[in-house]
Amino acid sequence: MENETVKETVSKNFIEQIIEKDLAEGKYEEICTRFPPEPNGYLHIGHAKSILLNYGLAQKYHGKFNMRFDDTNPTKERVEFVESIKEDIKWLGADWGDRLYFASDYFDQMYEAAVKLIKKGKAFVCDLSAEEIREYRGTLTEPGKESPYRNRSVEENLELFEKMKNGEFEDGTKVLRAKIDMASPNINMRDPVIYRVAHMTHHNTGDKWCIYPMYDFAHPIEDAIEGVTHSICTLEFEYHRPLYDWVVTELEYPHPPKQIEFAKLYLTNVVTGKRYIKKLVEDGIVDGWDDPRLVSIAALRRRGFTPESIQKFVELCGVSKANSSVDYAMLEYCIREDLKMKAPRMMAVLDPVKLVIDNYPEGQTEELEVPNNMENPELGSRMVPFGKELYIEREDFMEVPVKKYKRLYPGNEVRLMNAYFVTCTSCEKDQDGNVTVIHCTYDPASKGGNSPDGRKVKGTIHWVCAQTAVEAECRLYENIVDEEKGVYNKEDGSLNLNPNSLTLMEKCYVEPELGKAQPYDRFQFVRNGFFCVDCHDTTSEKPVFNRIVSLKSSFKLNP
Ligand code: ATP
Ligand code: MG
Repeated sequence: MENETVKETVSKNFIEQIIEKDLAEGKYEEICTRFPPEPNGYLHIGHAKSILLNYGLAQKYHGKFNMRFDDTNPTKERVEFVESIKEDIKWLGADWGDRLYFASDYFDQMYEAAVKLIKKGKAFVCDLSAEEIREYRGTLTEPGKESPYRNRSVEENLELFEKMKNGEFEDGTKVLRAKIDMASPNINMRDPVIYRVAHMTHHNTGDKWCIYPMYDFAHPIEDAIEGVTHSICTLEFEYHRPLYDWVVTELEYPHPPKQIEFAKLYLTNVVTGKRYIKKLVEDGIVDGWDDPRLVSIAALRRRGFTPESIQKFVELCGVSKANSSVDYAMLEYCIREDLKMKAPRMMAVLDPVKLVIDNYPEGQTEELEVPNNMENPELGSRMVPFGKELYIEREDFMEVPVKKYKRLYPGNEVRLMNAYFVTCTSCEKDQDGNVTVIHCTYDPASKGGNSPDGRKVKGTIHWVCAQTAVEAECRLYENIVDEEKGVYNKEDGSLNLNPNSLTLMEKCYVEPELGKAQPYDRFQFVRNGFFCVDCHDTTSEKPVFNRIVSLKSSFKLNP
């Protein structure tokens, strides 16, 4: 018991440590976290980390978790993304209950907050152009220069700001800036712009506003209004934290939230940047935002990943302050581990060739009872039809075997999985020399694949009964980018695409049971990997299966 307690303490991440300290000191009575996506694209695996981290902390410390759309920038947002984001978060298992918020609902409060700053002499309307503001800002080594409009009176600022709100100025002609310190070593503190004029229609507030708050001003206010205690964001905001603190302090919120940064999750050999994914979609290289080769949450779901596998993955990645990339193989490891016991193990032949059992009675068929998952008896068993003509994988036969080949070749005996021992006798070929039919004989005494007399066979192959087989399409995936060359082309920044990222197996044969499979159902196809029924392209005539992951990997959790 004592040991366990020690382990617990050691394994706490730095955010948990901060929270526990705050709770112990009575800084907050109850914690509140949030996930604040901008509705401008689909969520990806990196966001999953942020969602599960924030939700997990709220759960662990019996606090609250807010779902908030950070929709303060009318240029980029689209309503379509709001629904997809909600669906993705629900699917991941994070439950915001009735705590769904939109930052744009706080525009009035943000405006009031800006007025408060003006009244305190902490904000001013500035007429410098964007270009001039940049010039005046200074550099990392040189202080900035104060704006000539910095010392406008409170009255004048209030009047001008109201006129900004009333639409009396053109876009870009005036901004509201915080009055902080042009000599600050932190450039973010050099009188940052907090409101700009933009005559644009907002998806939520329509044409009510023609001024919009900047992110660094809006975000802390959103957190404070909602009573968020720990505002967790990614590392690039570290140098914005003093501004975050300045905003909540100047606005005198009684229990100001605190910002905590952690490192973004990056994966090797995948494309996560919205810009690149957008280009892949637009160029028709992938089949939409949920193409199974992408790592958007929608794509992972379509490919067949489970929420549990992603939770496990995020847990294994941990929370850190240093940027690093995680091996994609770790994600594959997590889904294999999750499906190993859960998924029924079925027979599917991806690259079929016919096998005829010459001594099997003409017209006879039988049903063999096969366990659904040998390692998990709870999944029960099913009946699999067997007959004279079967399909097997083309690669499970070699007319002239290579060394150590244990599968079918003339004269060799193998086990048909769960069925019988068969001995290959001959094969037929077409004009081009391709094998069209393989002939064999079976041993009726070996039913169930059991040796009748102690004799051993070295190979076991899977099969599907030809008469009752269901035709299916299988899609096999590799990384969309070329691992060897690296994700991005060094010269022009374009993506180094892998031409083999998708292999279509258009005429596969699967057990009849698989003909009933529904979108998102997952299976192990013995020897071929884990597969998931495609949610877009499956029809009642022809199921389509996406390979989630192959069965083997060299990945080790603790090398
Ligand atoms: P991207 O540009 O990669 O799509 P973003 O930061 O623009 O990401 P937002 O919608 O602004 O996307 O992010 C919502 C939340 O998700 C933020 O709190 C952000 O810090 C977090 N987040 C984004 N990318 C990652 C990542 N790779 N790892 C962990 N958290 C992330
Ligand atoms: Mg963003």
